[in-house]
Amino acid sequence: MADAPIAPPLSTSRMLWRGFWRRCPLCGSTGCFRTWFDKEERCPRCNFPLKREEGHWIGALGMNTVVTFGLLALTLLVGFALTWEERRALPIFLSAFLVAGLTPVLFFGSSQTLWSAIDLAMRPLEPDDDVDPRWIPQPHRRN
Ligand SMILES: [Zn+2]
Repeated sequence: MADAPIAPPLSTSRMLWRGFWRRCPLCGSTGCFRTWFDKEERCPRCNFPLKREEGHWIGALGMNTVVTFGLLALTLLVGFALTWEERRALPIFLSAFLVAGLTPVLFFGSSQTLWSAIDLAMRPLEPDDDVDPRWIPQPHRRN
């Protein structure tokens, strides 16, 4: 039967895993981005809207900021711990600038799809999302 649902039950961890790897949280498609920074409005495979409401990307921006500052703090702590005896600031500054400059760029796409995954986990699909019915996950059975 062509219209039979093919999507298995979708766990939160699977959605987050897919989101972290810049994939569609609903179907796992890799086509959510045209370029590193330019994302599609909807998943090309399942039609899941990556932006489900106005202001959606504020969460992704916040998450990117938290991850960047977290890694920066970790870099500074490890840098201080490793160079404590030598008292050299240059390696710490260089590594901190590198982390502060690269993390927001490298994590940009992941923060977008990860936030979509968090949104999907907190707010299940609605008819307005207009998702391809073949990708609507089956509900979990409770025995
Ligand atoms: Zn999809």
